[in-house]
Amino acid sequence: MMTTEMRLENAARRARDERVRPVRLGPGQYVVASSSQPGHGYVVYVDTDGAVACNCPAAQWDNPCKHAVAVQLLEQQDKGQVAA
Ligand SMILES: [Zn+2]
Repeated sequence: MMTTEMRLENAARRARDERVRPVRLGPGQYVVASSSQPGHGYVVYVDTDGAVACNCPAAQWDNPCKHAVAVQLLEQQDKGQVAA
């Protein structure tokens, strides 16, 4: 059985390997281009408490998905490098 840490680690590795690059639409809202369906994208929302939700099919059964994790990583980078 997979632990939450393992799921996060797997999703983070896929996000890096597949070069998932979220694009910020606005505060707490990102769009991520689909790697399997060119021209398609998924919307990722970040709650004020840091919870991330993605509308891709994988998120239904593979939560957190790589898109959500990529957004989380980006948010952490932003906080570390750029003053709000
Ligand atoms: Zn997703």
